[in-house]
Amino acid sequence: MFIRNEVYKRKNIHMEYGGQGQGGISTPTNFPCIFIFTGESGDEFGYADSWTKYGTFKYTGEGQIGHMQFIRGNKAVRDHLKNNKSIFLFQYVKSAYVKYIGEFMCLGYEIIQAIDKNNRERNSIVFELNPIDNIDVGCDFNDLAESNLNQSLEELRKKAMEQAVEGASSEEIKINVRKRSKAIREYAMRRSQGVCELCGERGFVKKNGDMYLEVHHITRLSDNGPDHPVSVAAICANCHARSHYAHNKDEIKNRLLDLIYQKEKELSV
Ligand SMILES: [Zn+2]
Repeated sequence: MFIRNEVYKRKNIHMEYGGQGQGGISTPTNFPCIFIFTGESGDEFGYADSWTKYGTFKYTGEGQIGHMQFIRGNKAVRDHLKNNKSIFLFQYVKSAYVKYIGEFMCLGYEIIQAIDKNNRERNSIVFELNPIDNIDVGCDFNDLAESNLNQSLEELRKKAMEQAVEGASSEEIKINVRKRSKAIREYAMRRSQGVCELCGERGFVKKNGDMYLEVHHITRLSDNGPDHPVSVAAICANCHARSHYAHNKDEIKNRLLDLIYQKEKELSV
């Protein structure tokens, strides 16, 4: 519904989907999504949203005075998986205009000490958001971790589906989700054998000789969960763009779901 890196007038987003027109976190009532806005005047209150070395995004919750609490927007972000809401991140490029960054999943949060609008110390909530659909990062064979190269497809699949152990700390759960999301991308790449899982054409060969394909998450968060072997496909750049933006993207999605389902069924006998 939004095009990555495209600039939108914030007002128009709310005219179409609803949600609060002000503030960092907007929660439309009639659509299963949450809009997050970063980078306007946040810095004034000690907000410092930033990317981590893992490719996740640290996002400071809402509330300008006093301790931040898990109410309204902060609660919505924390509970978005449970409530089947997708998170869409936008970044201000100038006043009233925002660029669409992508869809994210909340891995967890931490409470840090920061200064509020009145210059008082307070508890501040910092969410860690993981991009759902890594178009730009980690999408080629280069990204296959050394340690995984000798593993069988079956072993990779197991790794991709590994859940955090019961009673794990929130830090451990976050690490597990990160690992899984990396493993699932590697798994899809390996399963594809360099051939687009939608159109069947080979990806193009890069300068270093590796094949280029992109990993696409077929289902939205509101369907089956983003990190499952049946929910990802390694497809060519053209098919990837089509599955996001084509007029018949729903049809494409269903076709891809069928293809991957069949493939997984054959692999698991
Ligand atoms: Zn293709």
